[in-house]
Amino acid sequence: MIKITILGNNSALPAYNRHPTSQVVDIEEQLFLVDCGEATQIQMQRYHIRRRRINYIFISHLHGDHYFGLMGLITSMGLMGRTAPLHLFGPPALQQIVDLQLQVATTVLPYPLHFTALEEGKAQILVDEASYKVESFPVEHRIPCHGFSFTHRHLQRRLLPEQCRHYEIPTAFFARLKNGEDYTRKDGLLVKNEWVTTAGTPDKKYVYCADTRTTDSFLPYILKADLLYHESTYLDNDQKKAFDRFHSTARQAAELAQKAGAGRLLLGHFSSKYQDLSLFYEEASQIFPDVEVSTEGITYEI
Ligand SMILES: [Zn+2]
Ligand SMILES: [Zn+2]
Repeated sequence: MIKITILGNNSALPAYNRHPTSQVVDIEEQLFLVDCGEATQIQMQRYHIRRRRINYIFISHLHGDHYFGLMGLITSMGLMGRTAPLHLFGPPALQQIVDLQLQVATTVLPYPLHFTALEEGKAQILVDEASYKVESFPVEHRIPCHGFSFTHRHLQRRLLPEQCRHYEIPTAFFARLKNGEDYTRKDGLLVKNEWVTTAGTPDKKYVYCADTRTTDSFLPYILKADLLYHESTYLDNDQKKAFDRFHSTARQAAELAQKAGAGRLLLGHFSSKYQDLSLFYEEASQIFPDVEVSTEGITYEI
């Protein structure tokens, strides 16, 4: 299961109790922070996010509403005595920004901070572990910007308990069965794995599209996402403004979700000019019915 907790779903200005962008992706208790707008730490406290469990932070781009909370978080982690390495991914200039702020404050972090630059216009595999993978892909914004895709792999096969009993397989061997191994009994009978297991559940995919104009250019990276988070800074009557400012409307987000064959669509990054967000739902749901307007503090599960 992938769990996504929204910490901030507003665009540049905090408004109506909505905060600049940040969200936490949880895969098997490993927490990934995606963007870190101002107030992210306060939102983490409010929604009981365990900072120690965050080992990876991804910053989509260097507009302040996506990273002005980062220095506070990095230094708080140090003050809390963190020693585990922290992996930070973002545009190349982010390293200079972080280094300068640490340097002028003569702050020495008590933990290793590993920085990986997101290359402009390129897709990269950022994390590749047995049970999960994180990739970045370029989107179309006013400055270089990347979206992120999270895949939870289900490599393990599922046991068929009755068949396992029938072939008298000891429970101590079950973990190896889940990994696809055959079992040889003491009497020499080879029990083939497919006799006693079935395929596991399919991979789960969550995609965060960051700030972007609506475009097909990154469609290959978001195909068949179980859940797609797409910005909808504006409603469609502001389509020209959205285009000029490299943002999208709710209708455009819905059209892209449809093209991508997404399971569900989650809208976010709302302009502070809107107090009532129900129109975002109405507009998008006419095109893509499985849509939700994201709410801060809510955890969405795949
Ligand atoms: Zn933004
Ligand atoms: Zn932006």
